Amino acid sequence: METKVADASALLHTVFDLRTAKFLTTNSVAQEVLDENAKARMDAAIQAGRIVVADPDAKSMARAKGAAAETGDLPSLSKADLEVIALAFEKNAVIVTDDYAIQNTARYLGVKTEPAVQEGISREVKWARKCEGCGRIYDAGKSGPCPVCGSRLLKKAV
Ligand SMILES: [Zn+2]
Repeated sequence: METKVADASALLHTVFDLRTAKFLTTNSVAQEVLDENAKARMDAAIQAGRIVVADPDAKSMARAKGAAAETGDLPSLSKADLEVIALAFEKNAVIVTDDYAIQNTARYLGVKTEPAVQEGISREVKWARKCEGCGRIYDAGKSGPCPVCGSRLLKKAV
């Protein structure tokens, strides 16, 4: 079963279907939810064990910060956002988010994301190339080995 890490937008919008995945979030994200209805819903889900609150370790946090610095997303990311990225990286989980900076940094780390608001329309498939060594993502038109680590680039739907 897949593990998913929910950010604040996911806590507001996503249906936590335990038949499809196990859900995690972090303490900072839980504290970021201020809307009373959303908070009540989240607290109920935590108490029922439908969402487990966990925090990433320092090494994963450093990795997430480093990636965000390289993609230029660091100024747009809160501590809670970075924790979401770090936790997903650490647990090999999918991030549920509508935040572009989180999506972008996650992609850089090879962490998958899915939208918090399900629109019910099939998404257009876009192609990119992903390095099989370091996981960096490049444009579909990029050829040759990864300029960073020299590994092969594989075609991938994004
Ligand atoms: Zn590489």
